[in-house]
Amino acid sequence: MNLSVRRSIVLWYTVWMIVLIAIVFILIFSGSGYVMERRTKASVIETVNEAVDTITGDDGHIDYDDIDFRSGGVYLALFDSEGFRIAGMMPDDISYRPFSEGSLQTVPGRNKSWYIYDSCVPDAAGNRIWVRGVINSYDMSAMLSSIQWVIILVIPLLVALAVSGGYLIVRRSFRPIDRLIDTASGIAAGDDLKKRIGLGEGNGEIYRAASAFDMMMDRIEESFRKEKQFTSDASHELRTPISVIMAEAGYAKEHPDNAGKSLDVIISQAGRMSSLVSELLYIARADKGTLKIEKEDVDIGELVVMTAETMSDRAAERGISIECETLPDLVVPADRDMIIRVLINLISNAVTYGRDDGHILIKTEKEGGYAVISVKDDGIGIGEEHLGRIWDRFYQADSSRSSEHGTGLGLSIVKEIVRLHDGFVAVESREGEGSVFTVRLPLS
Ligand code: ADP
Repeated sequence: MNLSVRRSIVLWYTVWMIVLIAIVFILIFSGSGYVMERRTKASVIETVNEAVDTITGDDGHIDYDDIDFRSGGVYLALFDSEGFRIAGMMPDDISYRPFSEGSLQTVPGRNKSWYIYDSCVPDAAGNRIWVRGVINSYDMSAMLSSIQWVIILVIPLLVALAVSGGYLIVRRSFRPIDRLIDTASGIAAGDDLKKRIGLGEGNGEIYRAASAFDMMMDRIEESFRKEKQFTSDASHELRTPISVIMAEAGYAKEHPDNAGKSLDVIISQAGRMSSLVSELLYIARADKGTLKIEKEDVDIGELVVMTAETMSDRAAERGISIECETLPDLVVPADRDMIIRVLINLISNAVTYGRDDGHILIKTEKEGGYAVISVKDDGIGIGEEHLGRIWDRFYQADSSRSSEHGTGLGLSIVKEIVRLHDGFVAVESREGEGSVFTVRLPLS
């Protein structure tokens, strides 16, 4: 049987409620039955004893004028020692029973049973006078029949009320789950990632689940958007050099004597494509988690000086000087090639976006368990509106300058590599004044 949670809950507590009501009823009936039975027995004994006190005069004479022979449901009668009734009354459906001093007997009648209690007093002549009290035994079925309407009407009504009320409450509390299911199915069927459950603020688990679901959808939508953007940017970036190459190749074919310039363009565009493709591959491997990081002890200062050296010619073309202020023996466990890639990227950017005849300062420091590398230039800087986005793939704040040299992938690769090393990257920049890129790598 495959019941919904809603039905299972209602079924579960309905069954338990019925069981509980039954238990409560049984307890009430048996408890009150016990008490009533004791009271009935006590009342016949008490009545007989009171009658004995009343009829016994001081002089031994028996005087039964003051006796109420039918009080509180008890029949009283006086018998002589032969068993003949002297006074009082007995119920019709009770047959003669031998007398028994001081003991309570239960005697069956035609319709119901009776309790009989006898007590004996001597009269003035020394004969035994029997006082007999009789009362209806306590009858549970009579009580049950008197409240049968309560059992037949009220209890089912109570159960029905509780079940329908409970069902409504459960249904209401599960409504957000319906919304969650609808939203999830809507997303699955219609491919609309914008759908949200939108339950708003609330403390319950369902509210928390819904808000977690919405947050998850925000992330998924964002990463889908980025993925789409990435694919479209990648194809755009690849299409441009391909078009240029095709156009130049066509021109070179038409004008073989004048092909030198076209071939230069083709070579530069092919180089651009090659570096773009290798960066794309690098990113794809990083995304797949297959980028192998092989850590060794790397002397950061040494690496900085070496990388700066390789960039110095390019910097010199624009009159930019590169200065290194490095800390000796600053060793971190890192993947050497990856750190070189980071340094090349940051220094190359500092040169590209640096000011003609400007200055680049590369510093290494130690700070709170981290090796800190900072690359400072006095170039064009980055506008505040671009600062948060320069780490995105293909994002270029100043496309006029960057498209000649870069692809817009460099900083996203830097960020990925530093993340793989459990480090941090940051940038501080002011438009027109320059930028400082800082990389922090853990020392151990
Ligand atoms: P690119 O290949 O275009 O340099 P990056 O990912 O390395 O791509 O950088 C992204 C963008 O960040 C660049 O296009 C540029 O606009 C900006 N940028 C990076 N470094 C600097 C810098 N030192 N000074 C100014 N702008 C920078």
